[in-house]
Amino acid sequence: MKSEELARAAVRALTPYQSARRLGGNGDVWLNANEYPEAVAFSLTQQTLNRYPECQPAAVITGYAAYAGVKPDQVLVSRGADEGIELIIRTFCEPGQDAIIYCPPTYGMYSVSAETSGVACRTVPTDENWQLDLAGIAAQLDGAKVVFVCSPNNPTGQVINPDDMRTLLEMTRGKAIVVADEAYIEFCPQATLSGWLADYPHLVILRTLSKAFALAGLRCGFTLASAEIIALLLKVIAPYPLSTPVADIAAQALTPQGVAAMRERVTTLLLNRRQLIDGLRDTPCVEQIFDSETNYVLVRLTASSAVFKSLWDQGIILRDQNKQPGLSGCLRITVGTREECQRVLDALNKQPSLTAAENP
Ligand SMILES: *Cc1c(COP(=O)(O)O)cnc(C)c1O
Repeated sequence: MKSEELARAAVRALTPYQSARRLGGNGDVWLNANEYPEAVAFSLTQQTLNRYPECQPAAVITGYAAYAGVKPDQVLVSRGADEGIELIIRTFCEPGQDAIIYCPPTYGMYSVSAETSGVACRTVPTDENWQLDLAGIAAQLDGAKVVFVCSPNNPTGQVINPDDMRTLLEMTRGKAIVVADEAYIEFCPQATLSGWLADYPHLVILRTLSKAFALAGLRCGFTLASAEIIALLLKVIAPYPLSTPVADIAAQALTPQGVAAMRERVTTLLLNRRQLIDGLRDTPCVEQIFDSETNYVLVRLTASSAVFKSLWDQGIILRDQNKQPGLSGCLRITVGTREECQRVLDALNKQPSLTAAENP
């Protein structure tokens, strides 16, 4: 038998997550992965690489707990928030039996993680304002163990209405886990649901150092939840999920100085976002700009595929969202440095203007 045939059916059927890195490209302006545009310098302080690391390094856990305003036993650290997604599914969903619910257009890893685990996916698309279809979720809840809600949502950019989150948390109480993916919460900190953890023992919040903390290459993310849920996830996580250098740098990023530096970066990026949006308003090929509470802006463009390709050929790499439900003609632009935002605007303004009839 060929190895391919020996693989699980769920794996053979899988389309891997199309990460920005896998999609390739040869650019000098990388605005396709919502990364922070500039590297932050760190030096290693731990030299004991002969020893295994702590499973949950104390300095990282206490640092994040202090930053997030929760108790240390409500924090789990993992290899990116993506590992948190996988751990939640493996902890709560019986393969071949239970389902997850998510609300497209949204982040792609919920379905990828469910499918690799043999867990069914149910989709309840968001409404015309990218808000939750609560009746649709209620109708799908029977047999679903986890509901993923990304807020602010990637790629649309808006926060999910808190009243709707409350309704969702009430309707799922005792039935399903609700995961609020807050990967971009540093760009709108007032919108966090972390203060709700005390009221809702089935609420789980995902966080990451990959976006505002400028550490996507570190691979470090956090899950916030009741101590009871964290204890369950700790049964499933690998014994050494973080290498010693990762824990070392994460602990430095979470000191009061590290957090203050992150907040300054956010202030700068929000100014750059203003510049980008103002420029997009005056750009002929831009049809629609969606509100953003994040470090990216979703736009609908005339002839978006041609524009995407043209910018790609000029070394400006954006993220094409055209294939996502409801996002025809949409590209997602990460907010970069001032210069990078200007490069995008200049390139977009040089696009030949097409009439609607010519728009493929
Ligand atoms: C980037 C991102 C993540 C993944 O974060 P990592 O910590 O890099 O794994 C999770 N959720 C959303 C919505 C993201 O955009």
